[in-house]
Amino acid sequence: MTQQESRYRYSIPKSDYRECYEASAQRDARCDGQFFLAVKTTGIFCRPSCPARQPLFENCEFHATAEASLLAGFRPCLRCKPLNHPDETSDVITRLISAVEQDPSRRWRDADFDELGMHASTARRHFRRHFGMTFVQYARARRLGVVFKAIRQGDRVINAQLESGFESGSGFRDAFSRIMGAAPVNAHTQTLLQVEWLDTPLGPMIAIAEETALWLLEFADRRGLEREIERLRVAHRAAILPGSTAVHAQLAGELSQYFSGECLSFKTSFDARGSDFRRSVWQALISIPPGQTRSYGQLAAKLGRPSAVRAVAQANGANQLSLIVPCHRVIGADGSLTGYGGGLDRKRWLLEHEARFSG
Ligand SMILES: [Zn+2]
Repeated sequence: MTQQESRYRYSIPKSDYRECYEASAQRDARCDGQFFLAVKTTGIFCRPSCPARQPLFENCEFHATAEASLLAGFRPCLRCKPLNHPDETSDVITRLISAVEQDPSRRWRDADFDELGMHASTARRHFRRHFGMTFVQYARARRLGVVFKAIRQGDRVINAQLESGFESGSGFRDAFSRIMGAAPVNAHTQTLLQVEWLDTPLGPMIAIAEETALWLLEFADRRGLEREIERLRVAHRAAILPGSTAVHAQLAGELSQYFSGECLSFKTSFDARGSDFRRSVWQALISIPPGQTRSYGQLAAKLGRPSAVRAVAQANGANQLSLIVPCHRVIGADGSLTGYGGGLDRKRWLLEHEARFSG
């Protein structure tokens, strides 16, 4: 069974952990590709058939995809090579993976492959052929994962880690400050935002908030997330540290009601800054009832700017509050799904979910 055919598309519910654990205790190779076993004590993830000793249940978590394991901060097991196709090993891939481990915070450019004695296109081809993920995606997921791991561990450990240069050999400090900004020298001179990791049935989300308002909510695997966070940070001279606020707690409760279908609208207060026009587009999005969709043209007409379709689309794309500002409710005039930062599969899922529970 390939990953695409797996019944786990986005995430594995905790209620299925026991079943996954038993399958991996049996070293059941039929489960390879269906889920990945991640071991919290070692920070490594494996295919279910890995011959290594079975870890204790309480030290395990399970992910639907290799990318999800990487984003959760785990690195691939060298023994079962969970990223390689079974029965296939590739020297190129082994070299690339170990190069990433030497500095997970690194952003790879084509010229960097020269020092590994290979061409960028060779790296791309091997990676895609072996596990349907490009090398750049791999390196990005690993880089973000190092940071997200700290976020999942919360604020108690993070400050000590930043101070002691935790995992200095793996570039933790570099990766963290590159993506989240340097810790504030003086909290009074900078906006201090807190970031929390929230698990949902569509995969983990990253929520950034201050004490009274939510600033960003995005799926952890969203393309361009690093740039979004950077824009937020720079525009508001903010530093971002792992932690939770009352806003996060309210949001977590509302997300769980949203995904259970109990309540499809959100009351969490948020701060969405932009031009008057952009804010009016976001308000118009919020006024689209769950279970319904609009086209860009309809939104532009509603705002009294029928020729501003393109600007409406741009405002829609600049939304940083997934689900809260429901940009997924905008579709093409011909009914096609058009784009979505979280991916078209998720958009389809969200619209079907809302259609089902809004009646
Ligand atoms: Zn393994």
